[in-house]
Amino acid sequence: MIDTFHQAKNELTHEEKDFFAHRVWQLMSSCPERFLNEYESIGWWEFCNADNFSDNYRRLLVEGLTRSLVAAKARKASTKTVGSIFLQLIYGMLNYNTKDTDRVLNGPTNDAWLNPWLEYLTKIGVRYQKGMLAQGLETSGGKISGAVVQAVGTEAVTTVTGDYYIMAVPLERAAYLISKNILKIDPSLQNIIELSPNVEWMNGIQFYLNEEVNLNYGHTIYSNSNWALTSISQIQFWDGYDLSRRYNGKVKSILSVDISSWYAEGNFNNKKAMDCTIDEIKEEVWKQLQMELNTDKKETLTDKMREFVHLDNDIMPNAVEPKMGLFKELLTDSEHKYLQKVKDLEPLLVNQTNTWTLRPNAFTKIPNLFLASDYVKNNTDLATMEGANEAARRAVNSILNAEGKSDYCTIWPLYNPAMFGMVRYYDRKRYLKGLDWSPDFPKIIKFITFAWGLLYMLKGFIRNFLFSKKDVSKSNQV
Ligand SMILES: Cc1cc2nc3c(=O)[nH]c(=O)nc-3n(C[C@H](O)[C@H](O)[C@H](O)COP(=O)(O)OP(=O)(O)OC[C@H]3O[C@@H](n4cnc5c(N)ncnc54)[C@H](O)[C@@H]3O)c2cc1C
Repeated sequence: MIDTFHQAKNELTHEEKDFFAHRVWQLMSSCPERFLNEYESIGWWEFCNADNFSDNYRRLLVEGLTRSLVAAKARKASTKTVGSIFLQLIYGMLNYNTKDTDRVLNGPTNDAWLNPWLEYLTKIGVRYQKGMLAQGLETSGGKISGAVVQAVGTEAVTTVTGDYYIMAVPLERAAYLISKNILKIDPSLQNIIELSPNVEWMNGIQFYLNEEVNLNYGHTIYSNSNWALTSISQIQFWDGYDLSRRYNGKVKSILSVDISSWYAEGNFNNKKAMDCTIDEIKEEVWKQLQMELNTDKKETLTDKMREFVHLDNDIMPNAVEPKMGLFKELLTDSEHKYLQKVKDLEPLLVNQTNTWTLRPNAFTKIPNLFLASDYVKNNTDLATMEGANEAARRAVNSILNAEGKSDYCTIWPLYNPAMFGMVRYYDRKRYLKGLDWSPDFPKIIKFITFAWGLLYMLKGFIRNFLFSKKDVSKSNQV
């Protein structure tokens, strides 16, 4: 991962670096109970003391990280969530057994993932009905008795029935499906409705370029872009993918960009992304990328390179929202073309402070209703595909349990290196006594942790030194 911030003239002060390093050490040496009960109610912004340090510090260390994680909501996201995932990234980088902290698919998502998965499911007997929208859940005898679905583009509504029902729609849609009848059986599902405003706009745009632009081998964070852009140049990871037969045959690279801040004024047009038309968004994002990547010496992105630009279809004209509810599939063609201000139809969950207790489990009090989505309580605790996947494994386990079977899917905790076990244990003892985290660990604990760390680094160094030659060809691949 690189950050274009290194181009900024002003660097971080020693005080800022020391303070942040100290905070990272605090996270590494804090016990799980402190994460859950204390850091859950502290915002990442506050934990990093962002108000009292420079713009550089805020942009690079406080927001730079959350930009790529939680739609740039450093002020709102909890330290439990951001801190835990930040540690996973650091541990991933330090772990000499893993080569890539930043993992991406080796082809377009449909080809590399979704279609093979659909093919597999169909092969084992799953009947997959595309284009059906769940509009409600019927109840009877304390259970779900059917799901009301509407075929896209028609008025036709049918009820489908099954033994078990897994609600795998995003938070704001789940809230819409929780009816009074459902709440009568499981009142705690009211929490989903309360949690549902905890989503923020985040969406993607792709630039199809007629020249090879690889930038770096991973993600790029554009710290100076007001719309909090991050990007990845995809083709380098798509082993041998033949682009010559796609679109007009001229595309040589795809720059895929996430826009995380829709409420800040653009660097060039001074407008919030949410107030722009689709064309204005495309132009402003391009200019922000050029601002960050083009230097006096090298023009990495030129206007001539652009063959085609695609903004995610979930960014839709605001004006048509009342008619369509939230479902873009129900729009007519002319409504699709009506370009005024935009609306993000699939916002992203942001794990804000004090929301853990509002998050439901994968099982509910309704014996045949289960939940599988990124907002469900899980170890990953971040709106990601990993979080959604873990929630789904938990839902499957609950169904297996209901069926009296026990060949459960594996659920694993976040990685916590054993070398920090003693400091975390010591912190836990303090936590249980109602005490703050303290850097003053007993000397023996400090010594053992330090020695363990040193041995670990030495082992990694020897391993890499001895095996680096053999591994060169491997390390060039994803
Ligand atoms: C721009 C952007 C970039 C991201 N980048 C990453 C990343 O790099 N790595 C990562 O791990 N995560 C990333 N995420 C987050 C990740 O995509 C989500 O957390 C994850 O997809 C959530 O999975 P889910 O199954 O809960 O919901 P979804 O993936 O949203 O799936 C829910 C499905 O339900 C469908 N649906 C909605 N309503 C209904 C209804 N009424 N009836 C029937 N179907 C319905 C939707 O169309 C959708 O297909 C990103 C998110 C965004 C917005």
